[in-house]
Amino acid sequence: MSEGDARIGYLCPDETLARAGELLLQAVMVRAAVAADDCPAQLGSRLAALLDGERRRLENGLPPTGQEDTGRALTAFFRVILARRGPDVHDYLTGAIGYSPETDTGRRHDCGRRLLSLELVPRWTTAPRRLYVCERCGPAYSLPHGFGPPTADRTAGPGIRLTFPAPLPAGGWFVTCLQPVGGHEENAGVPHRLAPGVTTLDVSLPNGTYPGLRRLAVALVTAGDYSTFQFPIQQQAVSESSGGPVP
Ligand SMILES: [Zn+2]
Repeated sequence: MSEGDARIGYLCPDETLARAGELLLQAVMVRAAVAADDCPAQLGSRLAALLDGERRRLENGLPPTGQEDTGRALTAFFRVILARRGPDVHDYLTGAIGYSPETDTGRRHDCGRRLLSLELVPRWTTAPRRLYVCERCGPAYSLPHGFGPPTADRTAGPGIRLTFPAPLPAGGWFVTCLQPVGGHEENAGVPHRLAPGVTTLDVSLPNGTYPGLRRLAVALVTAGDYSTFQFPIQQQAVSESSGGPVP
């Protein structure tokens, strides 16, 4: 953490402190992805600088001007990361966050097994996140503070329909990808835009052959922060459906 980072808590009023913390954690994540060779240095450096710039505007009491561009750039980052590594990006924050004990949410993942949750507590910002973990599938949802987990419906169409517990407060972007296995890079879908206020997201299953049990990942960027979702899928589900690419 730089000296500038440490000043956030002194310079930002309460209502912008959490936003500054989100931007700081995002920049940490991006730089860690570059260091791990999961993200091209040029893409990562540009995005980290964009995030730092937004944060400094907050520190100086200036309104954000590039939120949409930041969201698009963050979505482009996730398109690369989902294809190369998968959606468990909380691993990039090791050392920057602590983990609360797991609690039973009383809900079930869409595979039918128990869904546990724990809080990811940043060590030097006020931007907690919540990670939902399926006892069978592992990490299922990673959400910003205040966002509830979606319900997943596989009967609404050929893919998976996510229904959010509340309308999205802002527009955003999402991207999907089959989770890579064994270092084989997958082809992520094209990022798609979401209008403000939407309550559902229809996720198409990927084309191609992927025998066995795999996971499909979705990254959603809205209101300046990101969410990730993961679902188990099997090839049979594709052969019984139209299986078209993400529209
Ligand atoms: Zn599960």
